[in-house]
This record gives sequence, structure tokens and C-alpha cells, in this order.
Amino acid sequence: MPFSDICGHDRIIEVLRRSLRSGKTAHSYLFEGVSGCGRKKTALTLIQALFCQVLPDDACGTCPSCRKIDGGNHPDIHLITPLPDKRDISVEQLRDMQHVLALRPYEAPRKVCIVDPAERMSVSAANSLLKTLEEPPGNALIILLTENAGMLLPTVRSRCQLIRFAPLSPEHVLSLLELGGMNLEAAAIVAPMSGGSLQKALELDNEALTLRREAVLSRVTQLNIHKIATVFDASEELSGNRDTTLELLDMLLSFFRDAVHLGAGNGDIVNRSVRSAIESIAARRSFPRNLELLENIYETRRDVQRNANPKLALDQLFLTMASDSR
Ligand SMILES: [Zn+2]
Repeated sequence: MPFSDICGHDRIIEVLRRSLRSGKTAHSYLFEGVSGCGRKKTALTLIQALFCQVLPDDACGTCPSCRKIDGGNHPDIHLITPLPDKRDISVEQLRDMQHVLALRPYEAPRKVCIVDPAERMSVSAANSLLKTLEEPPGNALIILLTENAGMLLPTVRSRCQLIRFAPLSPEHVLSLLELGGMNLEAAAIVAPMSGGSLQKALELDNEALTLRREAVLSRVTQLNIHKIATVFDASEELSGNRDTTLELLDMLLSFFRDAVHLGAGNGDIVNRSVRSAIESIAARRSFPRNLELLENIYETRRDVQRNANPKLALDQLFLTMASDSR
């Protein structure tokens, strides 16, 4: 992939491209940043650009070399990770790697090795790497990936060019999730919880979303005007700051759109995994009343966007929802 496909690390990419243009890339890099923020993607694009047969400072994406790297089967790139069932990267793995780096590259100008995560190198493994980092055999390139450079031996750190990756902003995570095909409602919930890691956001997706959905559906289906606590407990639990309240309202919109679909005799809904709860929402009120409630949720969303107090806005909305339940 070209550098322009990497999100949120413009300054780092500019530095790397400048070094590519001047032919002054380092022998050994240490990429530090939270897992899932784009370190490995940047490393692979740097390698693509180094090997690319068309462009001097980027990946063209179409030459044989770029295609092999995209396909994960370039013979001159070696990835060192802990072996299955092993916590650490062993000294034997690194010795083998150094042996391989000393051989002539098959087709690229140089051999490359990525060590991920570098903080899992045992002390003896890290020590065995020192000489290689200083003078990589055959002009090889070594890229170490780590979440915390402070966990590496100072002698390893000092031999590498350190590049620090900031966590992705929630906006970048959101746009990457959407680009990956996640629907906006799901993405808007998990992006702020991701800590700047796309990987974490994807892991959170199912679990966090399922829990939040269940909490919202449970509160909304229990609203009862004769038990007024159900109204205020719901807004207490579900409201938060403006952003989380807007997310909640997006979720409610999605539920009520589905309920209106069901009421109109259209069985194809978005929230299939919680279909029975949506059916009970649809059955609690008449079809026109569910349509009105959908409009009420839109209005509440607009109010909250225009700085209405989230808790008071939800109190009002949930009171309306409770007052006409059958
Ligand atoms: Zn290329």
C-alpha cells in the first residue's frame, strides 16, 4: 500500500520519505507505539518503497515486488515473533535470523527483518543482536517494533533510529473502521474506547457493542410510567457526556427504525442479533406512535447536539416513551 493509505502519522511518513529520496535510510529502526496504531503497516510500506521498481520514495502497489509484499510472500522479508506457546523470542531464533541476513538477497536490493514485539526478546537474544544492529550483514535492514522502548536494553535502543508513533485519534480510528466496512453506529461506539489502536477497536467491537446494546434494550423495554424509577434510572445509567449520549441516541434511532420496519411488515432489519427485543419494542405501541417516537429521538439528538443537558434530554425522552407503552 502507498504511504497515503496510512492514517495519522504524516510527520513520520514525511521523515521516512525524505530519507528514501536521499538514500539515507537507517540500518536499524525502532518503531515505538501502541499495538494496532500502524507501526507494522508503516514498516511494510517503508520496505515496499525501498524495493519498489517504479517509485523512489513510495510503494507503487503494482510492480512484482510491491505485489509480493502486499501478498505477504516476499522471500527477502523475515518476520521474527515468539514461537507458538513461547513467551519470548529466543536467542536461537535471532541466530538463525542473522544467518539468513548474511545470505545474498533473492531478488530485492537487501534483506529485511522485522522483530515484533521486540520487548519479548530474551536478554541473551537481545545481546546476540547488538553486533548485527550496528553492522547488519549485507546491508540488511532491521526494524524492531515495540509498545515501550523503555523495556528494551539501552544498548539495543542506542543502536537504532527511534521513531515514536502517537496513538491514533478517535476520528482516525472511526474512519479506518468505516473504511474496513464497519457500520457507522458500531464504529462510533468503539472508536472512543480504542485507546488509539485500530486492533483494540476491532477486538472491542463485538464485546463492547453487545454489552451496550443489551443494557440499552433492557432499560428501554422496561420503561413504565407507573414505575417512575424506571425512567430516571434509565437516563441515569445511559446518559453520559455529550458524545456518549449522542452514541446512545444513534443506537436508539437504529432500534426504532428497525421497529418501524417491522411494524410496516418489512422483516429485514439491521439489528438482527437482538431481533426479539426489537419485536417487543414494535409490539408495545401502534405503528404511527413508533413513527412519532422515532421523530422524538431525532429531535432529542438535535437538542443534545445544540448543547441541551444530556441527562435532562434523556429524562424527557424516556418519560415520553414510558407514557404510552401498552
Ligand atoms: Zn512498486
